[in-house]
Amino acid sequence: MYSPKVGDRLESLDTPSMIVDLDLMEANIKKLMDRLLPAGINIRPHLKTTKSAILAKRLAAAGAKGGCVAKLSEAEVIAAAGFDDLLITCEIIGPVKVRRLVELYKKHPKIRIVVDSTVGATAINDALVKEGVQDPISVLIDLDVGLHRTGVAAGEPALALAEHVGQLKQLKLIGVQGYEGHLQHLHDRADRERQCLASMRTLTETAEALRQAGHDIRVVTTGGTGTAEFCVTVPGVTEVQPGSFIFMDTDYRNAVGTFYWNSLTVLSTVLSDQGARDGVRYATIDSGLKSLTTDSGLAECKDPRYTYGVLGDEHGSLSWKDNGTVPELSVGDRVEMIPSHIDPTINLFDVYYAHRNGVIEEIWPVDSRGKVQ
Ligand code: PLP
Ligand code: MN
Repeated sequence: MYSPKVGDRLESLDTPSMIVDLDLMEANIKKLMDRLLPAGINIRPHLKTTKSAILAKRLAAAGAKGGCVAKLSEAEVIAAAGFDDLLITCEIIGPVKVRRLVELYKKHPKIRIVVDSTVGATAINDALVKEGVQDPISVLIDLDVGLHRTGVAAGEPALALAEHVGQLKQLKLIGVQGYEGHLQHLHDRADRERQCLASMRTLTETAEALRQAGHDIRVVTTGGTGTAEFCVTVPGVTEVQPGSFIFMDTDYRNAVGTFYWNSLTVLSTVLSDQGARDGVRYATIDSGLKSLTTDSGLAECKDPRYTYGVLGDEHGSLSWKDNGTVPELSVGDRVEMIPSHIDPTINLFDVYYAHRNGVIEEIWPVDSRGKVQ
């Protein structure tokens, strides 16, 4: 039976396999902590990237406080795997999901949620009352700081929602979330900083307005890999939510540079030699759409002399100049591919093989793989 083990070399893995360079991943965690912790605010990493309770605990051991998950079903599995200090960053809407939330909250009272509508807030409150849950659940107002995805508008709408939440007995308003996702990948650093600080002004001014109205706003949470360094400089921000920094991807590398390393690759095998056409040599590898996502552009070969192209669900091509300057790829050769968008790529795999210098040191399940509900 095929069952890779700790101590095996990468050569023993079948492909495609998701592999993590532990030296690089650990360096990324240290860089993030060294950069952000001195500001004295909480780091609550977004676990939509790793989908792993083991890595959530590792980040906490390095200085993080809790974690974020995007969806309720992610919270269910990460909490069950032993890490339950979680903020669910998407709205929980509909009777089925609200019922699931109540069940989860009964077992894991540290769970925090966000709301952006009176309808959504009321439904959760009513379900908690109906179930006789004693302790109110911690709630953050989700504020739109320019992404226009979710979140109530700043000013009167945010105040009105806070007023509404404040009157619901089983909801405890503790803070405000404002995620500036539209800015994370802006290439121009100065532009990213300027726009981020404008979003942070909306967020912190709203938090202050809610305090003035009598609400106990203790948490002001925001930020991602592309902006966290700016967010932590803003008085009033208490928490940042970066996720992708731990592994990175080509999209983030192109936007924010190489401060963090690309620590995760997809190990692939050359399946077929497709010869030369018009001065270009082609080989086919076993990584296509089912192992590398394309929403943020195409993955890249770790060796930049080879260019990746999609050849369908299971196949991709690597091509190079047919002038003798680039080493030939032969059938059976192995290559490492750097994903273009890390979160959905990880969602395509069951496990991580974490190695140091080619020897597998740890094997981690992707706990919340497929947990899209
Ligand atoms: N916070 C929220 C609400 C998000 O949706 C995301 C990512 O989409 C993040 C934080 C983390 O962002 P990143 O992975 O870009 O660091
Ligand atoms: Mn993402």
